[in-house]
Order: sequence, then structure tokens, then C-alpha cells
Amino acid sequence: MLGSLSAAALPAQQRRASRPKIKITDVRCAIIGQSPVVRIVTDQGISGYGQAETRKVYLRPMVLFYKDLILGEDPTDVERVMMKIRRLGAFKPWGAAVSAIEIALWDIAGQVAGVPVYKLMGGKIRDRVRIYNGGLRPAFKGQEPQHYAEVVQQMKEAPEGFTLIKMAVAFHNPAQMNAMPGQWYDEPRTGTPHSNKGMLTEKGLKRIIASVEAMKKVLGDEVGLALDAGPGWMMKDAVNFCKAVEPMHLAWVEDMLTGDYSPYPNADLYRDLKMQTTVPIHTGEQIYNRQNFKDLIEKQAVDVLGPDPEDVGGIGEMKWITEYADLHGILMAPHGIFDGLIGLAAHVHLAAALPQNFIAFEYPYGQPDWWYDIVDGLPNPIVKKGFIDVWDSPGLGVTFRVNAAKARLSPEDRGFFD
Ligand SMILES: [Mg+2]
Repeated sequence: MLGSLSAAALPAQQRRASRPKIKITDVRCAIIGQSPVVRIVTDQGISGYGQAETRKVYLRPMVLFYKDLILGEDPTDVERVMMKIRRLGAFKPWGAAVSAIEIALWDIAGQVAGVPVYKLMGGKIRDRVRIYNGGLRPAFKGQEPQHYAEVVQQMKEAPEGFTLIKMAVAFHNPAQMNAMPGQWYDEPRTGTPHSNKGMLTEKGLKRIIASVEAMKKVLGDEVGLALDAGPGWMMKDAVNFCKAVEPMHLAWVEDMLTGDYSPYPNADLYRDLKMQTTVPIHTGEQIYNRQNFKDLIEKQAVDVLGPDPEDVGGIGEMKWITEYADLHGILMAPHGIFDGLIGLAAHVHLAAALPQNFIAFEYPYGQPDWWYDIVDGLPNPIVKKGFIDVWDSPGLGVTFRVNAAKARLSPEDRGFFD
């Protein structure tokens, strides 16, 4: 018996013994279009790719900052590598490089093991994942309620068949707030994103509510509506707005008090808001690291969390946060609008393996359009009836068409694929 067991086990043992330890030999970053892409190169001909939000065109030196810290490491020991760099990240945008590296490590680990990344996240519990549309929308023709109705009508009719739509209102939407003077008690501010804040006038509050009513009239109960609404609200305005829209059964209202580039979670204020309304309260896209979700989760300060895998520290970090949120009755709807097509792949593998508090992730799309011509591995069409089928190729399962992609590189990044 012992003899036959040994004989059966021998080939596998030999395989294990014959595989040399894989090592990281280079860490590169190219800005492709406006999108930072990280490539981790190994000594065994396998590379892993990760991406950061489109628009973070300044990311290259931040990625290279971590290079010397992880050269020579085994990229399949993802956590061991991350322990070297995770403490050197911070709230958005300073967690982006760490996050992109983490995703590239999982891509390598999946390829080495010959399995899709969702297997490394614990295995899939769903064969297709729900997305929400937070950014694919036609241009607004104005800022009156009928213009909001027109835009969501077209979003409702989109071929992707989105089941959930998110729209920007209030301080998250400068066009709405600047369409007429006197909607809040401060001067309009420009420069950094979403820098307006203050107490609303009655006129301003009513205009925002009217835009939401117009959208709900179009969407009815056929397509869910979430709002990205801040940051910048004062507490009582936030409560009054939420109470006014309670009969509309919104999916959530996002980042009213703090969010986006606010470098703190603000759990106590969110808890105050959450306790005063039945509207689901959502935050988290700017937050880095599981530790910074501790208060929000343990104080049950919000109803929905929305970290972005490309800012929070990666997909392993997201899995941990989602599981902990689930233990506390909190839902998960990851942010992702600018995460690009490699980011889309990371979202799909992650979402396949998230627990049942997962609602949907925000659909990232190729920007500009030629991004769809430089990668292979995505389904065609990508979205069917508001869902994406989970694919089974090893790693993230999205690879570059190198010749086509090379043609899009800037001179500075010429050697990226070599
Ligand atoms: Mg948002």
C-alpha cells in the first residue's frame, strides 16, 4: 500500500522539486493613454499586470519607488511581498501604486498556479457578476430636471442592459450646483475635485430633489438608482435630503459628508446620518487599507461600502474588507469607473468570490476606445443584461496584444513590453 502511494505521489513531487523559485526581476510602469499600467517581470518568462485609475498620469515615479523593495521576491507569496510595501501607501491617490502592484502579483500567482485569480480569492460563488453604470452616459443638454430625465432614459435603453445606474448630483456635480447662483451659502471653488461645501439654500435643496424625482419617474422600479452626492453636505441638509427621497427607494446615496479625496473616513458623522434615515448611506472610495475601515464597519456607521481595488490596496484587501463588512451587516458596492480594462478583469475575479453582501461593482470601461484593441481575453460583448460572465483563463486572463499596444506607448515608455 505504501509502495503504491509513493509511486502515485512521485510525479507530483518531482514537478514541485523541478520548479525553481520564481523571482521578481523588474517593476515597470507605463502611462498608456491616460492610464498607468504596472508590469511585474519575473525570471521565468511570466509577467503580471495591474492598472491604476485613468487620470493618475503622474503615477510612474510612485510605482518605481517600490521597485527596489520587492526585487528578488517570490511574487506568488503575495502577502509576503505586500508586507514590504503596504505601510508605504496612504489614502487616495497615494495607495494607487501599491494597489496596482498587488493586482499584478495576483496575476502572476494565478498564471504560475494555472488557475484564474478568483480561485486564489477563495473560489467563485457566482458565475456572472453584476455591474452598475456610474459613468457611461450621454452629455447633458442642461441642468433642469427634464435633462436628468432625458439622460437616464438613454442610460436605461443602453445595450448593456444595466440593472443599476448611479448619477452625480449636488456637490458631486459642479454643473448642477453652478447652473444658477445662490444654491448654497459659500462661494464656488475650483481646482481640486469636489471642493465645494456648505449649507444649502432652500432653493438649492429643492433643485437637487427635483432632479432625483425626474430620474425616478423614468427608471421606475425597473432599473435601480444610486446617487453620488458629495462630499460637502452639512449634516442637517443631508438628513433633510435623505428624508425627502426616502419614498423613492434609492439603492444608496454616496459620499455626502466626506469621500473622494478626503483623507479620513469620518465614521462618527456617518453613523449620525445613517441613524436618521432609511436611505442606504454609502462611502469609502478614497480609503486605503483594511485598518481604515475598522471604525466604519465596527460602528456600523454606513449601510454600503465602496472601496476601489485600485486605491484600497488591491483585491486581497477588498476581499478582507468585504468579509468583515458582511459580518456586520454592511453591503459592498466597489468603486471602479476609472479602473480601466485590466482593472475590469481584477473586479470580475474579485466579485466572483465576494460574499453575498456584494451588490455590484462600478463598470470600468476603456478610455480612450482604442484600449479595446490592445487587450485580449475579455468576453464579447463584455456586458450581457447588466452582468459579466466570469472567465476561466489563468491569472487575470487579460493579456496585451503587444504590437498594437506598443504603438500606443509614449517614447518614455518605449521599452515597457520588451
Ligand atoms: Mg463616488
